[in-house]
Amino acid sequence: VGLVHGTYIIAENEDGMYIIDQHAAAERINYEKYLKKMGTHDDHMMDLLIPLKIELSPQDFLVLKEKMQKLIDLNFEVEEFGINTVLVRSHPYWLPEQSLEEAIRKIIDIVISEREFDPYKFTEKVAITLACKMSIKANDHMELVAMEDLLERLRNTDNPFTCPHGRPTIIAYSKYEL
Ligand code: ZN
Ligand code: ZN
Repeated sequence: VGLVHGTYIIAENEDGMYIIDQHAAAERINYEKYLKKMGTHDDHMMDLLIPLKIELSPQDFLVLKEKMQKLIDLNFEVEEFGINTVLVRSHPYWLPEQSLEEAIRKIIDIVISEREFDPYKFTEKVAITLACKMSIKANDHMELVAMEDLLERLRNTDNPFTCPHGRPTIIAYSKYEL
């Protein structure tokens, strides 16, 4: 039907009315997409046109040096590059082309902050972080076709009812309740 406060999609069918949070819905779709791509063990890499230099605090650098293999396992080509700096030459193909640098930095942050390394939890955390980053925000105006497309893709997810943080995507009102 339309969009309220640039954030909530209002939809209807024979049974009732639905309020869908556009960010939570997009996050669910993107989360499942990243989780699937990361789980395919496709070792296809993309070279950066210009290698990315990432400077860290001395403390973070020491932690990352120990965990460099985690990045390599994820299909990053990364090496030490001078004082407290790493150089990223290639990245896994599934990283979003827009905000690439930010996505790489986020993944490095997660590698540094993860204490006990659980590969499943790690993958999940990366997928949630990227999904949140890549999803339409509140107050981003959507056209009707884009809303319809979002709902169609939400319908096809494994769990359409919550975002990966556990917040509800849909509130439903039956005709009776209305
Ligand atoms: Zn979010
Ligand atoms: Zn969320």
